[in-house]
Amino acid sequence: MYRTNTCGELNINNVGQTVTLCGWLQRSRDLGGMTFIDLRDRYGITQLAFNMETNAELCEKARRLGREYVLQAVGTVIERSSKNSKIPTGEIEIEVRELNILNESKTPPFTIEDSSDGGDDLRMKYRYLDIRRNPVRCNLELRHRMAMLVRNYLSNQDFLEIETPMLIKSTPEGARDFVVPSRMNPGEFYALPQSPQQYKQLLMVAGMDRYFQIVRCFRDEDLRADRQPEFTQIDCEMSFAEQEDVLDMFEGLAKHLFKEVKDLDFGAFPRMTWHEAMRLYGSDKPDIRFGMQFVELNDVAQGRGFSLFDGAELVVGINAEGCADYTRKQLDALTDFVKRPQVGAGGLVYVKYNADGSFKSSVDKFFDQNALHAVADKFGAKPGDLMLILCGPAMKTRVQLCSLRLEMGGRLGLRRPDQFAPLWVIDFPLLEWDEETQRFYAMHHPFTAPKPEDEALLDQPDRWGDIRANAYDIVINGVEVGGGSIRIHDRVLQNKMFHALGFSDEKAYEQFGFLLDAFSYGAPPHAGLAFGFDRLCSLFGGADSIRDFIAFPKNNSGRDVMSCSPAPISQQQLDELNICVKQ
Ligand code: ASP
Repeated sequence: MYRTNTCGELNINNVGQTVTLCGWLQRSRDLGGMTFIDLRDRYGITQLAFNMETNAELCEKARRLGREYVLQAVGTVIERSSKNSKIPTGEIEIEVRELNILNESKTPPFTIEDSSDGGDDLRMKYRYLDIRRNPVRCNLELRHRMAMLVRNYLSNQDFLEIETPMLIKSTPEGARDFVVPSRMNPGEFYALPQSPQQYKQLLMVAGMDRYFQIVRCFRDEDLRADRQPEFTQIDCEMSFAEQEDVLDMFEGLAKHLFKEVKDLDFGAFPRMTWHEAMRLYGSDKPDIRFGMQFVELNDVAQGRGFSLFDGAELVVGINAEGCADYTRKQLDALTDFVKRPQVGAGGLVYVKYNADGSFKSSVDKFFDQNALHAVADKFGAKPGDLMLILCGPAMKTRVQLCSLRLEMGGRLGLRRPDQFAPLWVIDFPLLEWDEETQRFYAMHHPFTAPKPEDEALLDQPDRWGDIRANAYDIVINGVEVGGGSIRIHDRVLQNKMFHALGFSDEKAYEQFGFLLDAFSYGAPPHAGLAFGFDRLCSLFGGADSIRDFIAFPKNNSGRDVMSCSPAPISQQQLDELNICVKQ
């Protein structure tokens, strides 16, 4: 038997017992007469003690060991003279009488401590060492726990976990596919699933009624901090379900996770239409941990001779409470922020509501005190507040103001990672116009149903942009953690949708024929949703990036720096696959 106990479980009640522990050498201290080793495993750290007087040979052996050696120690649990109250095993140590080196270790490139000195690249290259560190290990433990909670919850609600294929047909809608050449079918390719969307709909046609899967998905998109080329979804689908049923079910799941993991209770999650979210927050994933809602100012801001306001489609602002004492330098920094290319505003107008009731603004030339008062009233501002205003084309300006709002929320400490503000955003537009390709795209995917009251607009091409979808997102703290929709299960409606997307009948059949065929054999009304599992975990773990919740993530260029992939393959492999690589 390698071990009788782990390094995290022995305490004062075990004194006198003979135990065998295994683990890694975290650190050793040579105090002359005594040598101590901290032995670490997944469960904790236990101190091993070696006494020069009672066992000089063993003590000498212990002194020669390096960091991260893998050890097995046999000894007696004794009470420590100097106790460590910071760790659960801090009251005891092991008086070692047998020490076996199970394996040696090179000196690791960074120390295995909570705050590593590794740096990102090094951590990723030696990820197996990084995972030995507590913070990363805890994240993976949280992920496991959440996966178990999800499985149990959904299983108790009669959902079946069913695996769907990884090698599927490429579809050009949505993001770019990762493709896999087929050796046995020269010139033909599989795609890796961007999501199991069509298969889960087929499972509904198959009568499986409630499906879920914690499933890997692949999208060949440009990477950002919170994106990975492969990521995990909690993918779900239900038959005979309306929007209300889906929102209820998955709000229930989210609440269950909050209760079990964070011991937090929530009432009904607020709901906001997409239009409302855009109007009040300039985002379809508003962070509602704090207010600072947008206030539209056209009526009080225009007609005063300030040409930028007068010529703008929208004048809109936020009120930063208690910020009237912002200095010139702070205001300049905010102006620089909105002018950054990532935000793209032309400039920033401010109005200070001074503590004495007077106003000071960057547009004093055009706005007298009365006019500024009218602006302040629109905001419901009070003395001591600072109003920040942008103007321009409506949607663009809202998106710019969203960046400023989040920036201000951050500066004012209003985006606390330990606070959670979930909501549903509903009634997304069905179709989205793309200037570049001059056509409509499905905002969610081509199988999303329009709201029944908007269905007739599918017959009016000039109104396609106005059609609302029965689609919904679950948003927590400004992060889209999940989304889904009611599906089209009617062949005629589906054809109209393809038509709006610019697909001929033949093209639609070529792409989605198997699904369309299935729909002619009694497809039940169905609906579903998928959570981004990595994001959900990082949110619950209080982190911004999903990377540390994935055991072996890719870097920002989509590379696995540990295994050095992607990598060229041999000419023989290329030949077998009938692939000719351009030089
Ligand atoms: N398949 C969708 C997605 O990946 C989610 C859904 O509609 O269920 O976004």
